Amino acid sequence: MNDNATIQTTCPYCGVGCGISAIVDEQNRQVNISGDKSHPANFGRLCSKGSALGETIELKGRLLQPKVYGHDVGWAEALDLVADSFIKTIEQYGSDAVAIYGSGQLLTEDYYVANKLMKGFIGSGNMDTNSRLCMSSSVAGHKRAFGSDTVPGCYDDYEQAEMIILIGSNAAWCHPVSFQRIRAVKEANPALKIVVIDPRRTASCDIADLHLSIASGSDAILFNGLLAFLSQQNALNQAYIDAHTEGFVKALEAAANSGDTVEKVAVQCRVAIDDVRCFYQWFVSHEKVMSLYSQGINQSSSGTDKVNAIINYHLATGRIGKPGMGPFSLTGQPNAMGGREVGGLSHQLAAHIDFSSPDDINRVARFWGADRIARKPGLVAVELFDAIYDGQVKAVWIMGTNPVVSMPNADKVKLALQRCDFVVVSDCMAHTDTTALAHVLLPALGWSEKDGTVTNSERRISRQRALFSPAGSAKPDWWIITQVARRMGYEQAFQYRHTYEIFREHAALSGFENNTAHGLRDFDLSALADISEHAYDRLQPIQWPINQAYPQGRARFFDDGQFFTASGKAQFIAIVPRPPVNPPDEGYPLVLNTGRLRDQWHTMTRTAIAAQLNQHKPEPFVEVHPVDAQRHALSSNTLAVIESRWGSMIARVQITDSQQQGSLFVPMHWTEQYTSQGRMGALVNPVIDPVSKQPESKHTPVRIKAYHPVWQGFILSRRELTILNAGMDCGCSLPLPAGEGRGEGIQKSANRDRSQYITESDYRVKIKGEQFYRYELAGLSLPVDWRSCVRDNLDDIGEPAQWQEYQDTGKGAYRAARIVDNRLETVIFIAADNHLPERNWLAGLFSKTALETSERRALLTGQPPLGVADVGMIVCACFNVGEKTIRTVIKEKGLKTHQDVGACLKAGTNCGSCVPEIKALL
Ligand code: SF4
Repeated sequence: MNDNATIQTTCPYCGVGCGISAIVDEQNRQVNISGDKSHPANFGRLCSKGSALGETIELKGRLLQPKVYGHDVGWAEALDLVADSFIKTIEQYGSDAVAIYGSGQLLTEDYYVANKLMKGFIGSGNMDTNSRLCMSSSVAGHKRAFGSDTVPGCYDDYEQAEMIILIGSNAAWCHPVSFQRIRAVKEANPALKIVVIDPRRTASCDIADLHLSIASGSDAILFNGLLAFLSQQNALNQAYIDAHTEGFVKALEAAANSGDTVEKVAVQCRVAIDDVRCFYQWFVSHEKVMSLYSQGINQSSSGTDKVNAIINYHLATGRIGKPGMGPFSLTGQPNAMGGREVGGLSHQLAAHIDFSSPDDINRVARFWGADRIARKPGLVAVELFDAIYDGQVKAVWIMGTNPVVSMPNADKVKLALQRCDFVVVSDCMAHTDTTALAHVLLPALGWSEKDGTVTNSERRISRQRALFSPAGSAKPDWWIITQVARRMGYEQAFQYRHTYEIFREHAALSGFENNTAHGLRDFDLSALADISEHAYDRLQPIQWPINQAYPQGRARFFDDGQFFTASGKAQFIAIVPRPPVNPPDEGYPLVLNTGRLRDQWHTMTRTAIAAQLNQHKPEPFVEVHPVDAQRHALSSNTLAVIESRWGSMIARVQITDSQQQGSLFVPMHWTEQYTSQGRMGALVNPVIDPVSKQPESKHTPVRIKAYHPVWQGFILSRRELTILNAGMDCGCSLPLPAGEGRGEGIQKSANRDRSQYITESDYRVKIKGEQFYRYELAGLSLPVDWRSCVRDNLDDIGEPAQWQEYQDTGKGAYRAARIVDNRLETVIFIAADNHLPERNWLAGLFSKTALETSERRALLTGQPPLGVADVGMIVCACFNVGEKTIRTVIKEKGLKTHQDVGACLKAGTNCGSCVPEIKALL
């Protein structure tokens, strides 16, 4: 690779699948990231996460060497052990005693070989993926309605639509580039109607003409009501229904039964009658309507029904497969779609072929030359970890994901892995809550080193290209899997030397016996089955299918009214709305909703490395409605304990009427690597949808109470401290300098003990900043003496330091600053109450090469000297612009629009994700 080469690749975060232009300086391992102007998913735009990718490629924290029971080993030893252990487990307990748990982070080629190994050659269906938690309800809904897992439309439909409905989707934060594209369409065409359907008032409501804040779980009632309304208004497309669908009468009957008047619907959904009527009438009067939906629909015990309730009203009006209209699932992960294509979900086999007929299974077996192919679906995610817990699955291989954080009932998942006989984790990061429990760690390539393909929400396949050579001994996932497969005796079937060979095979399988005689399948890449290495390297983004009929790809499916069911007709599904399985009760009276934040990705293993992404929402928080806050004696910015039947967490209280009364919201991201007690997965209800088996992550009954620490405080430190895994013996959150090799030994027994230090007596959060680490702390017991507890430990660091100190034992206050060579090294503020200074000014001092006298004097006040402004909480992560700065220019310059603010401060002019907050400040 040449230095400073420009490489076209794809963002590794959300399902928008943005193209990236990367100018690479391999020698210094640096990269300049910008949006790829030619990529049809983003046309040059990136969100805050994508823009910060260059900050996440450092080698610190990377897993660079295979490890077996905590010891560095060579690849041969690690691979032999994995293969031998799997073979022995299968010999003793059968093939269903082993499992693979994959991820939407895997490239399609990695996914393909993992799935082929498990389902084709080990002979078990036990390969599932974290996409089960994300959009398996969409998969099931598509399959029921269309006979295939097909996303009908494409992003270009945004520009064509007359009305866009965002359902259970905070796209402004979770699919920011798509949202910005819709915002631009709305600004250019104010007649475009935007309706947001979400219990929460989110940033996506910023462009909404109508927000329906429906009762949690009442979506199907609203959509059934729409179907009934369409019938009453003679707004059905009867010709389309007759020609291209089946099951309409029963679906309409069920719809009418659940609410045949606007009034009944409004009462059940707990929204204003006029708002429901307005939504329905807008739907009638606008032909080109898109329904974009996401986890608010999918993550439900009736998620599949909700998906079909959406599809039903599109089928009833024939609004599908044509420009500007149709149901559209926004996928969560960069390659959730690629995983579906290869059969990464345990009920799928491969290439959109499932286990439903022996002919289908035999077809895949013939193609692979596999004589012990799995003949039934395997365990789905929740069942899989239950089976590990129960000892039925004895060896598991987890690839590129962090189930100890992201799974519902996550404490049980943690216990399951602690009990499991053999846990293999392949990951690019050394320290995750899941790698901590592995017997064998296999270092995989990181995003900037990987080479292969991903598929985004609109079926567009894009190349992810390597920017750098592999770090340390890290290897591609496909290579690791292939090596284990060969050692297990499947030499012939896993002879790949390059990703393009895997892609060719995947493309060939998609077209194998995929003709009318055997029943057409939607997923077909047969035109790429002979792709050369050269052409694969240069492959441009393209939407599948790519076959004889559509050699350049196909933007929309179903424009011909043909579906992949036995009859060729789409199926209406009669929906009987079901309430969530576990409603709130006396013991757990509130409903917990979970979701993503603007600037973090999943379990923060990469985004938390980029300092600017940690400033917008630095701590785990819980959003509470003002009435609930009053009822539960909670104050803004204090701490609270949230408890469910499954677990608990501590989070900072944010009181907001954007939250419905009776509901709480917590973000999904924090792990034990960054907090002592902020894993929301520990609380989440593990109940699953009976069809899709997707967990109900949006609806967990919980209770909340104030957490009353004896002391609270924060430390800002130039160097990382081992606060999160420090011992508790002195009774405080003892800060220790981070030693080399902390957590490096992934000795299973040692790591099992780590959790004993994390007790309810502590609240600790680590936040990486620009040239400093911030630690937010609180505890239930006071140390005898803060000075000896804190200062003595920090002095162990070694450099000669000057100290400023203030201690008031009576008030429980302690403040200290440690200065080395006139640079701030550490600053500590402890108080018996929560009266602590804001952190921004102090944090900014770490970027200075020398402190000024006035700054040294002001240190222990925590306030900037007179005349120096505090920027406040960071609003714009791209340009690091704080709330106070924005407020000041708005006031002083009389700014009226977010464009004015952008012109003045650049805030909101890159990814645009902070525009709703800027507008709120205006
Ligand atoms: Fe990446 Fe952001 Fe684009 Fe999603 S919207 S693919 S996170 S740049």
